[in-house]
Amino acid sequence: YHAKLERDRISTFSPEFDINTVERLQLLADLRTALDTGQLHVVYQPQTDLTDGRVVAVEALVRWRHPERGLVRADEFIPLAENSGLIFPVTAFVLDTALAQVARWHAAGLDVRMAVNLSARHLSDQGLPQQVGAALTRHQVPASSLVLEVTETAILSDPARADLVLHALRRLGVSIAIDDYGTGNASLSYLKRLEIDELKIDRSFVSNIGADHHDLIIVRSTISLALALDLRVVAEGIEDAETVTALRGLGHVIGQGYHLGRPVEAPELERRLGIAPVSDTDAAP
Ligand code: C2E
Ligand code: MG
Ligand code: MG
Ligand code: MG
Repeated sequence: YHAKLERDRISTFSPEFDINTVERLQLLADLRTALDTGQLHVVYQPQTDLTDGRVVAVEALVRWRHPERGLVRADEFIPLAENSGLIFPVTAFVLDTALAQVARWHAAGLDVRMAVNLSARHLSDQGLPQQVGAALTRHQVPASSLVLEVTETAILSDPARADLVLHALRRLGVSIAIDDYGTGNASLSYLKRLEIDELKIDRSFVSNIGADHHDLIIVRSTISLALALDLRVVAEGIEDAETVTALRGLGHVIGQGYHLGRPVEAPELERRLGIAPVSDTDAAP
């Protein structure tokens, strides 16, 4: 029996797979070092209320300054971190950095919410609500200023446990957003249970509504459904002015995307928003 397992395993091995595995293991080892030596940092992307043009929230996105590979994007190493358990210290770092940042912005008069991404693993971690509560207290940030983004897929990987964690988070006063909405399964059944406060419509639907009539219909009906359920709506992936114009006609929508502002380090966001610099500690070395 073991011999058969071994044979099956070997038969699926391709040289390409092998190299990727070695590379992934190396990157994983490097990520451990990165956490210990301060190679991770956080960039911030504005979310703009399209009805009045005001920045109402900011999403924290992690970046890795790798000594040899240069800047590594989140989607290149977050999946790795998720499979290894390193996602826990990564999220703790992002949450702590983002809350310290939003506390400084609040003190400087910039009233924005801060959005932080969670992974599936966190939704089965019963200790998470307590950890989030402690971080809010430590930085003296009101819970209503924190948005935690989760995907449908993450919720559905263990819905019963996810419900417990999300419920406890909401009791703290934190809001929950469904990220990449529309790309997972069973989205409507989850909406019906309403343990959420915000829908972020995935950029694959949003970015092309100016040209693709079907995308426009999908986005329009998603917005009206979400607003009717009293949810906040964020449209992701806005890459041009036409998309802004189209969305404005569809109701009260918050926009996020390269056209409205790329993810940038805190001092640059402060320059762009015209507030006095308060974030010299986050400046690039
Ligand atoms: P997400 O949470 O859906 O974040 C939005 C992603 O879309 C970001 O990529 C952002 O840079 C990109 N984006 C924003 N506007 C536009 C646009 O107009 N056009 C296009 N093409 N892209 C746009 P990023 O930073 O590479 O992050 C990728 C994903 O990695 C995130 O997707 C999120 O799922 C995950 N991630 C990022 N930071 C963290 C983190 O701190 N913790 C966890 N657990 N996951 C994170
Ligand atoms: Mg997100
Ligand atoms: Mg998203
Ligand atoms: Mg995503």
